[in-house]
Amino acid sequence: MNTLIQSDFFTNIDVKIQFDAPIGNMTYFDLGGSADVLALPQSIDALSRIVKKCYNAGIPLRILGKGANLLVDDDGVEGVVIKLSHDCFKACSVDAKNAAHNLHCMAGADLSQTIMQSAREGLQGLEGLSGIPASIGGGIQMNAGGKFGSIVDSLTSITCLSENGELISHSSDEFCFEYRQSNITEPIILSGTFTLTPDDPIVIRDAIKEIFAWKKSMQPLADTSAGCAFKNPINKINERVSAGKLIDESGLKGFSIGGAMVSHQHANFITTNSTAKAQDVIAIMHEVKKRVFDNTGIHLQQEVVVWSRNSETDQ
Ligand SMILES: Cc1cc2nc3c(=O)[nH]c(=O)nc-3n(C[C@H](O)[C@H](O)[C@H](O)COP(=O)(O)OP(=O)(O)OC[C@H]3O[C@@H](n4cnc5c(N)ncnc54)[C@H](O)[C@@H]3O)c2cc1C
Repeated sequence: MNTLIQSDFFTNIDVKIQFDAPIGNMTYFDLGGSADVLALPQSIDALSRIVKKCYNAGIPLRILGKGANLLVDDDGVEGVVIKLSHDCFKACSVDAKNAAHNLHCMAGADLSQTIMQSAREGLQGLEGLSGIPASIGGGIQMNAGGKFGSIVDSLTSITCLSENGELISHSSDEFCFEYRQSNITEPIILSGTFTLTPDDPIVIRDAIKEIFAWKKSMQPLADTSAGCAFKNPINKINERVSAGKLIDESGLKGFSIGGAMVSHQHANFITTNSTAKAQDVIAIMHEVKKRVFDNTGIHLQQEVVVWSRNSETDQ
């Protein structure tokens, strides 16, 4: 355990704490080790104080969303991992202004439930994200999306917490989100507001069903994975090309190391079985990058975020 963190570190902060907390099994891969400390703040004020205290003390701080794009290394991670599981971080509310409706969601809210709630209320704009497992915060951080749109398309503002624990808001003219990445520099996204348009709930529900059916037909949704392992790269003539196609053309479908394998259904998905270690997934990603580069000259960039002990960054 990190000796920097004593049990009295969180005194007078409304937070539930678990030392040596197994966070690997909170991810979709269901792999990897423990965090020195898992902190579940019970209020925005508690979250803000934890962020400020960690930064002041030089303690590494990470935030775990739904764990759908995350691989925790076998040795786990140092410092504090925050999870926004308290109900105060899951609230969503609609504020109707003229023809547009603003849906305000806290970062811990579940994206799929939010899409369904919007559909029931006859609000159109998020259904393109159907079938993407995410918290609102993780979805914004990753600019989740695909063939049917990205989360940034209807996002009009966000509120973040700075390293000092201060609330900072950004409106859409300050965003510069790109393919599968946001330009947010604050460590925590606290909430997002989406501008949605009224429409017939049945039409929205049908669109959700159609998109979900398309996703199910294309991706190994029943297997354990973190979605696409790599971003679709840009080729020499400046076109975004399918990473899955490059991996497939490099003969890697079915390629396995330990309990991890390149999916037969979609080559950009690395699936795991119950014997897999995080290092198997890391070794496969390394080998896939190498072989695709040898075969095509294109560098694949990881989409899956890897958390390792003593690594400064997410990747
Ligand atoms: C079966 C499957 C299918 C998928 N399909 C798609 C798809 O079609 N399109 C797509 O884009 N993705 C897809 N993904 C990947 C994943 O759903 C997205 O990347 C999603 O945005 C991850 O959200 P999360 O809450 O799970 O984030 P996590 O995986 O928990 O975290 C991802 C990153 O976001 C950061 N983060 C999380 N919450 C916050 C916050 N509140 N503030 C700041 N940073 C935060 C984490 O620190 C981490 O760096 C798929 C995954 C799976 C398992």
